[in-house]
Amino acid sequence: MSIQTEREVEQAVHPATSIVGIDVGITRFATLSDGSHIEPLNTFRKHQQRLARYQRAMSRKTKFSSNWKKAKARVQKIHARIANVRRDFLHKTTTAISKNHAIVCIEDLQVRNMSKSAAGSSDSPGRNVKAKSGLNKSILDQGWAEFRRQLEYKQIWLGGDILAVPARNTSRTCPSCGHVSADNRQTQAKFACVDCGYENNADLVGAINLKNAVKRRIVAGQQRFRRPDTSKRQLQVFTHAVPDGSLP
Ligand SMILES: [Zn+2]
Repeated sequence: MSIQTEREVEQAVHPATSIVGIDVGITRFATLSDGSHIEPLNTFRKHQQRLARYQRAMSRKTKFSSNWKKAKARVQKIHARIANVRRDFLHKTTTAISKNHAIVCIEDLQVRNMSKSAAGSSDSPGRNVKAKSGLNKSILDQGWAEFRRQLEYKQIWLGGDILAVPARNTSRTCPSCGHVSADNRQTQAKFACVDCGYENNADLVGAINLKNAVKRRIVAGQQRFRRPDTSKRQLQVFTHAVPDGSLP
């Protein structure tokens, strides 16, 4: 399989030939269609608690007093620490993913809308419910946005690509028999097909469906995909030439 992208610079050829779907969520930061997953950014919870404590301390001080300035410096230090930990973590994970997969498939949705849908949409009811009660949602949003941004430039760097497909029904379609039903999602974490009995982790099912959606489009000769440009918050349409329709 080879991938050619319309670009003026000479294109690197990605060392891998595999395609992977990635679903992001709350209980797992990201789940890959190959069955692996990335744990949530729990280190932030600890830092968040400290941050809240120091922010409260700061609010009790007289503004612009020396004690207030000390408290403020502590708050800023924790902010920087959170950003550093997140950046390191995301660089490690996105580098590993980009090295191993020529094509990364993700949901075609704006990251900034993700935690807004905490109450659940018609497609994924209650999927992000824990976002508001648990981790700070802005930190989650930033984590996902940065994850996508790094994946995107690393994929392009290595000669691979990142493709976004519509999120429609990805959480309630059976990857085994294709049956689409909200009843397939009995709980937040578990997928159980009411038609064929296929069972799996719900996030993994989402990742598999994303991968399958891209493969179907490639096989069908629909070689136009949308590339998410998270930095500019725009979607660019570009064309892929995949001579061999069979992807691993
Ligand atoms: Zn089924």
